[in-house]
Amino acid sequence: MTDTVEREVVAAVDLGGTRTKAALVDRDLGVVARVVEPTPADLAARIGETVASVVGRLVAAAPGMRLVGCGVVVPGLVDEETGIGVLSVNHGWRDLPIRSRVEEAVGVPVAVGHDVRAGLVAEARLGAAVGARDALFLPLGTGIAAALMVDGHVLSGGGWAGELGHVSVDPDGPPCPCGGTGCLEVIASAAAVGREYSSRTGELVDAQTVAERVLEGDPVAVAVWQRAVSALARAVHATLTLTGIDLVLVGGGLAQSGETLLAPLRAEVESLRTFQRPARIVTPALADWAGCLGAACLAWEAT
Ligand SMILES: [Zn+2]
Repeated sequence: MTDTVEREVVAAVDLGGTRTKAALVDRDLGVVARVVEPTPADLAARIGETVASVVGRLVAAAPGMRLVGCGVVVPGLVDEETGIGVLSVNHGWRDLPIRSRVEEAVGVPVAVGHDVRAGLVAEARLGAAVGARDALFLPLGTGIAAALMVDGHVLSGGGWAGELGHVSVDPDGPPCPCGGTGCLEVIASAAAVGREYSSRTGELVDAQTVAERVLEGDPVAVAVWQRAVSALARAVHATLTLTGIDLVLVGGGLAQSGETLLAPLRAEVESLRTFQRPARIVTPALADWAGCLGAACLAWEAT
């Protein structure tokens, strides 16, 4: 008879608007197994079964592991302390008791977090913000949400912190679905950049194509890009002034263009700077997996 020591792992699940990314993660944050699958459209009605099913697939893919916890991250307004999804426009829920539903279905302790705040936790543990005490994580995707770390603490504000996408950067700008006007999200998200170019040219393209056309010197692409960069620079400058943050991780679909975005953004943020502490503006290290790895960090913290 041989003694077998089971390796302890947590399941980490990032329930995105279209895709669910999940992994089994050990205590050193090593990924043991991972899966990506479409997020069901009726997630709100069966979040417990959905997470249990993906966790079941992960566990089956990695025999000999002992599941000791689970971390779930979602977009929108999330109260990490109560484990409640206060509001998600993407998933269409209000006040969804995520933690209790998932705990009931999975049978291990569950930690619930916000996808972007959890992403910053992961970047600080093993990505581009290792060693930083102050950092802004700014993924630019379909929407824009930010996470802020100040003096080593990721700010939650009861779930309300970080909504930089809904700070108005242009009082004469387009209306935002939130009810505001000229919000950063309707000017500088990846979706907004594609939409604006398409409305000016009549050609349906995504932000990645606009970025390519910027490099080719397409004047409409350059104008749309410049407008987005200026809006981002104003929002970033205000955030840095308010918080003293000196590291900015710009990620998401719009940042896939790399220096096409970051070089002009750095120049414009620097041109706005008067007395503020200079900030490094770089791409994150964990790409699409930051939220999932952040969910693992939350699960281990809670275990
Ligand atoms: Zn808004």
